Amino acid sequence: MKLAVPRERRPDESRVAISPDMVKKLTGLGFDVIIEAGAGTGANMTDAAYEAAGATIVADEAAALGDADVVFKVQRPLSGDDDGPDEIAMMKKGAVLIGSLAPLQNREQVKAYAAAGIDTFAMEMVPRITRAQSMDVLSSQANLAGYKAVLDACAHYGRAMPMMMTAAGTIAPARVFVMGAGVAGLQAIATARRLGAIVSATDVRPEVAEQIQSLGAKYIGVESEESGAGAGGYAKEMSDDYKQRQAALIAETIKKQDIVITTAAIPGRAAPRLVSEEMLASMKPGSVIVDLAVETGGNCALSKPGEVVRTDNGVLIVGYRNVPGRLAEDASALYARNLVNFITPLVDSETKALKIDWEDEIVKGAGITRDGAVVHPMLQEEGK
Ligand code: NAD
Repeated sequence: MKLAVPRERRPDESRVAISPDMVKKLTGLGFDVIIEAGAGTGANMTDAAYEAAGATIVADEAAALGDADVVFKVQRPLSGDDDGPDEIAMMKKGAVLIGSLAPLQNREQVKAYAAAGIDTFAMEMVPRITRAQSMDVLSSQANLAGYKAVLDACAHYGRAMPMMMTAAGTIAPARVFVMGAGVAGLQAIATARRLGAIVSATDVRPEVAEQIQSLGAKYIGVESEESGAGAGGYAKEMSDDYKQRQAALIAETIKKQDIVITTAAIPGRAAPRLVSEEMLASMKPGSVIVDLAVETGGNCALSKPGEVVRTDNGVLIVGYRNVPGRLAEDASALYARNLVNFITPLVDSETKALKIDWEDEIVKGAGITRDGAVVHPMLQEEGK
């Protein structure tokens, strides 16, 4: 069976869906691994390293994809509407495509996979059950994003993070406030603590208070009977009363902060707006906000995808896109491992062919299209 990995062509994407280590694993499973030349350049993974691990390097993307039984991608393929080639058209009928396909946000493209007879699996839809932890691309990438967000904040902050007692005087430690203590937020807390900051954090799921405190940060939460815990461990939309009380609490907290990292997300919805223009106006000049939710609408007023915005009162709002991609080498290595962990149980060890159990909870959760039809329940009605 041939497994192809093309170069990622979407803007701001330097990750790649395979690492040399994972080429070895895949060849061990019985795959012939074909990699487009230069696919790993942005992640410091060379063609020579892939070749040494047992892959074949090809110059022609169309030839690599056209021959492939399985295609590994980071982001969803180009569909000809974007600048660039139509990568869906390059794949053969019956091919299996595995990647972060963002199917809920790209429903037309889901129909195109079905029309092309491509069976697709969206890694971000893998259920977050214990058995699937090693396949969890949301966690592997969010963890790196939380870490990098703090470093990005430091890079823009004109002062030091830790307390420093010097002969010339004492520097006070930075105050860091993390909003949303999921995977990215908890790593942001840990990173800011390691750098010596005084850290506090908030979330709508009260059960995270203990996790925040165990990392040495202060929990700041709305006193309420209402819990933000929704299905699958994710947050849900809060009531208007809760939102008002949360806004008052954030307003009181944020004006004392030097650095704010916002990570709040509700699956399938726009990011909750947590920092208003009034709150920004109350902040100190030189303070920095990193909005990790900027690509899904932003947690912070005035944040702009791909930009660093400076407010009239001197607050910097950092809105980098694709923050895991800013650590492309580690992000790619972990992502590739997630994909290999996903495909391993789908390969029959005797025949070395794919043998997909469509009744399996993980397969059902991630499966988007199969045999020309849209099969995921969240997409099916519209796709048929
Ligand atoms: P996420 O990216 O969807 O959201 C980030 C955080 O924002 C969450 O903690 C959420 O509660 C918070 N949030 C949402 N709305 C908010 C608001 N209005 N104000 C403040 N905070 C708000 O979440 P995630 O990081 O992907 O993880 C969510 C949960 O899933 C976590 O508890 C995590 O531990 C759990 N998880 C479980 C597994 C597993 O069991 N395999 C794997 C990964 C994550």
